[in-house]
Amino acid sequence: MKVMLATRNNGKIIEMRRLLEPLGLELDNQTDTDIPSPVEDGQTFVENALIKARAVSLASSTPAIADDSGLVVPALDGRPGIYSSRFAHIDASDAENNSELLTQLANQESRAAYFFCCMVFLRHAQDPTPIIAYGQWWGEILREPQGEGGFGYDPLFYVADESRSAAQLPAQTKNRLSHRGQASQHLIAQLSKSLV
Ligand code: IMP
Repeated sequence: MKVMLATRNNGKIIEMRRLLEPLGLELDNQTDTDIPSPVEDGQTFVENALIKARAVSLASSTPAIADDSGLVVPALDGRPGIYSSRFAHIDASDAENNSELLTQLANQESRAAYFFCCMVFLRHAQDPTPIIAYGQWWGEILREPQGEGGFGYDPLFYVADESRSAAQLPAQTKNRLSHRGQASQHLIAQLSKSLV
């Protein structure tokens, strides 16, 4: 089955293609098309994931998988949350977002945080029963970036069990532990049942 991956984030494309391999789907990238990304005007990860998948499914006339994910810091009332990719400003780079996070956390005692991922599968744009899966990954925000791998907030996200930042983890380890890894496992389990 041909399925469109509804994302323009290259870091996510790499991870999602690897994670969804067991499904044996023919995955096409939105980035190889001229399908624009919709305005993400939901209030929650699940709303934005559905908005992305629906827009891409409608434009491509194929099923679509989208993820909406981000970093949630309880001491910052959940920020950056659904605004993770545009925390510093609308076109912010990863470095600018990381720097904004360090500034906002400067006087906070608790640096606990979690990555959250909602991954959805839509059979078609009007699908009334989307498959929805979630993943959550706890860590601590470091005082300065560590490591060169991954993307986004990975260099600031310390994973205590591995004694390293997410940017220092081998891709395989990150995929096993991460919010996206967990969500994709749940999505695969549900999809495998619905595709038989
Ligand atoms: P989205 O593309 O609107 O879902 O925005 C996701 C944003 O959340 C990314 O641009 C990153 O800033 C952040 N993010 C999500 N997943 C990860 C991850 O695995 N590592 C680091 N940052 C992430």
